[in-house]
Amino acid sequence: MGATLEALQRLQHIESQLRSVRGQIEAKRRSVQAHQRRLATLERQIADTHELIRQAQADSDRLELDRKAQEEHIKRLRERLNQTKTNKEYAAVLTQLNTDKADALKIEDRVLAAMSKVDDLRKREAESRATLEKEKARMGETQKSVSDLEAKLSAQIKELEAQRDAAADGVPPEALKTFERARDKHDGEAMAQVEQTHPRRAEYICSGCNMSVTLETINSLQSRDEVQVCHICSRILYLDSTAGVAAR
Ligand SMILES: [Zn+2]
Repeated sequence: MGATLEALQRLQHIESQLRSVRGQIEAKRRSVQAHQRRLATLERQIADTHELIRQAQADSDRLELDRKAQEEHIKRLRERLNQTKTNKEYAAVLTQLNTDKADALKIEDRVLAAMSKVDDLRKREAESRATLEKEKARMGETQKSVSDLEAKLSAQIKELEAQRDAAADGVPPEALKTFERARDKHDGEAMAQVEQTHPRRAEYICSGCNMSVTLETINSLQSRDEVQVCHICSRILYLDSTAGVAAR
């Protein structure tokens, strides 16, 4: 293998390590972001429940006023009952009183239901708040683990970046440009090994995209130190030196 390809492979090796280290940090950061979204959802739920409590409490207060008014009304009816002068009048007031007492019981049921709804919502809010507090504490730990990891890996990243720059210096500028284009296009994998599809047939493919590679390209890779790219995926092709790929 020519010097240029060797230098490119060295570069690829370092780039891959760098990418993997950065990927670890990225993954942690994404988990922090997911956690932040969970916290925001919880906070929204709590605010919604809070508003429901406010409405339920207003309903409950209003019903309580109705109940008191009904109580007063019944008290007055009882007084009137005592002051009736005729049997007919007495019977009429008594009927009215019984009807209104039945209504009062219905209102009382509604008051109790409204109060119990408020209680349920308060319980729900308290549970959500407890969950939120726990999640906030966990968030603190997650954030700390990200900064710990960043601190731990930053020296490694600096070292790898220095190695990468040194390796890039050993690559001719045109080849470096080709490398960087392919790297950016294929998630950091700028190079692809050429594979022989059958041991006894001179048929080759690019392992990056599985499309065929011409014999002309194979010959060129074997005889000259120049960069050959896959015509389909633009990755830089190289031969596996241990497999002894033969074009003839
Ligand atoms: Zn390809």
